[in-house]
Amino acid sequence: MSTASHSVARRVTAASGHRLERVLTADVVVVGARCAGAGTALLLARAGHDVLLLDRATFPSDTVSTHVIARSGMVQLRRWGLLDAVVASGAPPIRRVEFSSELGFLSRTVKDRYGVDFLLAPRRTVLDPILQEAALGSGARLLSGVAVEDVVRDGRGRVVGVRAHDDDGPLVVHARYVVGADGLGSRIARSVRAPLTVERAPSGAAQYAYYAGDWTAIEHHLGDDVFAGVFPTHDGQACIWACTPESLARAHRRAAASPEEAFARVLADGVPGLATRLDPSARRSPVRGMLRMPNHFRRAAGPGWALVGDAGYHRDAITGHGISDAFRDAELLAAALDEALCDPGCETDALTGYERDRDRMAGDVFDITCELATFPEPSRFVELQKRLAGAIDDLAAELSARSLPRAVTAAA
Ligand SMILES: Cc1cc2nc3c(=O)[nH]c(=O)nc-3n(C[C@H](O)[C@H](O)[C@H](O)COP(=O)(O)OP(=O)(O)OC[C@H]3O[C@@H](n4cnc5c(N)ncnc54)[C@H](O)[C@@H]3O)c2cc1C
Repeated sequence: MSTASHSVARRVTAASGHRLERVLTADVVVVGARCAGAGTALLLARAGHDVLLLDRATFPSDTVSTHVIARSGMVQLRRWGLLDAVVASGAPPIRRVEFSSELGFLSRTVKDRYGVDFLLAPRRTVLDPILQEAALGSGARLLSGVAVEDVVRDGRGRVVGVRAHDDDGPLVVHARYVVGADGLGSRIARSVRAPLTVERAPSGAAQYAYYAGDWTAIEHHLGDDVFAGVFPTHDGQACIWACTPESLARAHRRAAASPEEAFARVLADGVPGLATRLDPSARRSPVRGMLRMPNHFRRAAGPGWALVGDAGYHRDAITGHGISDAFRDAELLAAALDEALCDPGCETDALTGYERDRDRMAGDVFDITCELATFPEPSRFVELQKRLAGAIDDLAAELSARSLPRAVTAAA
């Protein structure tokens, strides 16, 4: 991934041997350059704003996440003009979704709705750089390997930039808006003390590994306190995942010699039909995952700052909707910031509207996710899965009907 910066406004010269503090400027500095941050930067850059993306990671790199994209997220990739690039990357289009439980087996073809008739599960090592390249192609800048430490405020407490460092020393960015797209542990959310506005108990754990094989469908397998499945991805591999209550994942981990052995036991005990199809020699990665997944919304914005993606809204991975949430909220936020940048008098209305729309559009999937993560009995679990499909379809319909944010540069 190339990095570029052309606006080093000035260098603060240290009198005695200390490293120079570089000072950059931008209309918007976006901290975090994956689904939420790169998506927001792309749309703001297309609207003609000067956007600087900062990320402490370098790219391409992986992150802890499985990566199915729901129809709602697929609609966003299509509307942003990026769907062809993701398919061209070798992520296999998936046209069949299966569901197995003690109540029976269901297989359905992905219907052609809102311009989408297949789903994708691209590796994050591939998806995130596609978003970043599109943002760069629209004029945004990206500095990777830059860790942001804090926000900078003016005399009235308004956020006016960030303080960061990289291997070359300290860095300050002055900007009209700071966007925290820095994930669940968001430094920006902590720096601005963004309060939680909704909080539900965390309960779930998710683990996964990659297996070579002939995987063609998205598979879901419901067992006793285990919801597991298959997401076909690049390079003839599938992401095999298992969601469980946190307590069950911890118990298996304590009893096993390694995360790999614990994962194998979770699958063998809970979903033996899937486990027997997994040849251990076909495993191509270590097991990764998250043991405790919070469910909450944070205040989305304030004077000079906003949060997007996991930084502002987090839910259990059991519904596989975080990437799609990030794409939706990137667009809602980009439209709000464009309005506020063009007419500062609109700031409060625009940012309040962003939070209101985010919370409304996320609400149904959030409620369903929180209940699924409690592992209700199978008939209720299946009923919630049907409600989830309906909620995702409603969201896809609403997103599909929206006007794209203003663009003055061509789609990358
Ligand atoms: C186990 C698991 C499975 C999941 N499965 C799915 C799934 O199948 N489908 C789905 O849609 N979602 C899934 N999700 C959710 C999804 O991964 C997230 O919702 C999504 O990654 C959020 O994107 P983001 O851009 O908000 O944050 P992130 O992807 O977390 O990116 C944040 C970025 O900010 C950077 N950063 C953080 N702090 C700083 C700092 N101080 N300075 C500079 N940079 C910083 C990080 O380096 C990182 O690159 C899953 C999550 C987990 C944990």
